[in-house]
Amino acid sequence: SKTAVLGPLVGAVDQGTSSTRFLVFNSRTAELLSHHQVEIKQEFPREGWVEQDPKEILHSVYECIEKTCEKLGQLNVGISNIKAIGVSNQRETTVVWDKITGEPLYNAVVWLDLRTQSTVESLSKRIPGNNNFVKSKTGLPLSTYFSAVKLRWLLDNVRKVQKAVEEKRALFGTIDSWLIWSLTGGVNGGVHCTDVTNASRTMLFNIHSLEWDKQLCEFFGIPMEILPHVRSSSEIYGLMKAGALEGVPISGCLGDQSAALVGQMCFQIGQAKNTYGTGCFLLCNTGHKCVFSDHGLLTTVAYKLGRDKPVYYALEGSVAIAGAVIRWLRDNLGIIKTSEETEKLAKEVGTSYGCYFVPAFSGLYAPYWEPSARGIICGLTQFTNKCHIAFAALEAVCFQTREILDAMNRDCGIPLSHLQVDGGMTSNKILMQLQADILYIPVVKPLMPETTALGAAMVAGAAEGVDVWSLEPEDLSAVTMERFEPQINAEESEIRYSTWKKAVMKSMGWVT
Ligand code: ADP
Repeated sequence: SKTAVLGPLVGAVDQGTSSTRFLVFNSRTAELLSHHQVEIKQEFPREGWVEQDPKEILHSVYECIEKTCEKLGQLNVGISNIKAIGVSNQRETTVVWDKITGEPLYNAVVWLDLRTQSTVESLSKRIPGNNNFVKSKTGLPLSTYFSAVKLRWLLDNVRKVQKAVEEKRALFGTIDSWLIWSLTGGVNGGVHCTDVTNASRTMLFNIHSLEWDKQLCEFFGIPMEILPHVRSSSEIYGLMKAGALEGVPISGCLGDQSAALVGQMCFQIGQAKNTYGTGCFLLCNTGHKCVFSDHGLLTTVAYKLGRDKPVYYALEGSVAIAGAVIRWLRDNLGIIKTSEETEKLAKEVGTSYGCYFVPAFSGLYAPYWEPSARGIICGLTQFTNKCHIAFAALEAVCFQTREILDAMNRDCGIPLSHLQVDGGMTSNKILMQLQADILYIPVVKPLMPETTALGAAMVAGAAEGVDVWSLEPEDLSAVTMERFEPQINAEESEIRYSTWKKAVMKSMGWVT
């Protein structure tokens, strides 16, 4: 058996917007031993609404754990070597459930959901004092994106939620809380908690004091007793109550973007990574200091690796639609059957032929924060075909990243010399080359693409009482990187970028 040479193993749940995964790593080498992935349904009950089924999400986690354990068995690796489990998750997505029955009281309202646009408008008219009230406490602009407004909507519109709150049966949580509560026993003693990174995305959390903020809860009208306990990102929250890994501690929790930052070892001030999943998120570590942006970036908690450890902050550029535009080409237009096909189509033409695609499906996030924007495809001619549109969709992801990198450089003062990347879309080599061309700096990608899960596993293994993973970068086998260098000339890169900006202007003010 291989187990003797392996040493302790650590599992990670990676619950994303498109799929759920469970992965098992060797804590000595950070090598990925086995994993399993299940795609998650997204429901669009009305225009702008995006929901998921919390029970489906929970079942997908159990399914991934069981299947991964079976695969480990086939490799002759004993699952008793798994010493800890970390959770990383899609952030902001909002669940309210009944603590007596364990049943969700409504579908999960997904971060991309736009139903709260009018809630946001009426709240923004009531902001007390100066306009900085919310941003100075939370680091976030008032937007449909964050949990507080989604929770407000549920309290205003869902009778079952109102009733459960009145009867003191309701619990609120982001996906991490829902999963940890359920996995640690649910109605039989489940632990209702979240970590500082996930809490910092609710818009109810004070990122300076690291506590739920009473004034914010009053402003949003949220009863504080339904909120989870806020813990650090690396400590034992509870034990798995069922399934193949019953009894294993859950000892790490990070929002997916924080997990990727840790998985890419961005522990130093000024280190940054960009993750290309459903959306696209560039985070730059700013150390113990909260840096506030003048250019549309968010200030957020990066991580806090233990109860008595200091907190780290990050500046974040968030792009709502990245991989989601590829999924849209597949599911709504039907011009591709798989996401991977975009690479072949784009390669065939090698240019968008003047076609620009601004996928502002959910308005525009950073750096614009413009809810009135909607998607446009422009610059079409008789000559344009689906290859050009696929190319333009990939290029849109790169242009959006360029916009947040520019904002980051302005806020931080020191331009990045290269960009560390990860996420599902980075397997697309055309995308990576385009990104290097449009940023005009090298793009660097670890060969082991599961950095989000790795980050969650690292912090779970490093938790006090588990202690199988020390967070010293030299402990890890040298990470092999793939590098993409800019290949076009700088002038061409600038012309394309300025045409993109023209297209962005046309996408704005579409809904009034
Ligand atoms: P999430 O963490 O948001 O669930 P992932 O990191 O799993 O997302 O990435 C999945 C997204 O990436 C999907 O939207 C999918 O359409 C897109 N994607 C995956 N592979 C490719 C590819 N080869 N080319 C372009 N897009 C891709």
